[in-house]
Amino acid sequence: MPRGRADYQKPGTWNVRCSMCFAKRKADELVKNWQGQYRCKEHDEPRHPQDFLKAIPDNPSVPYVQDPSFSFAFDVILLEDSYSTPFVGEDIMLTEDNNPILMDG
Ligand SMILES: [Zn+2]
Repeated sequence: MPRGRADYQKPGTWNVRCSMCFAKRKADELVKNWQGQYRCKEHDEPRHPQDFLKAIPDNPSVPYVQDPSFSFAFDVILLEDSYSTPFVGEDIMLTEDNNPILMDG
């Protein structure tokens, strides 16, 4: 029977196979890699440095916004007597008690 590299008795260690090349080695010759697998020293792979990159958090917000409750412009004004449509196409502003003011011009 042929004898391999790990076919001898050594106190305190045992035979184990490399997770990459499946060669029989003594347990104290193998190293544990970053994935938790035991491999020959020549088959050990360091973890790629790109795995440790951290992205900078993006902040897409604008520096400031207008308070929408302080606006003087109105896009849509619903009037109670809208069946007569004298206000269509006119510029309209409201007084403080919500009465429409027609703006000429
Ligand atoms: Zn190996």
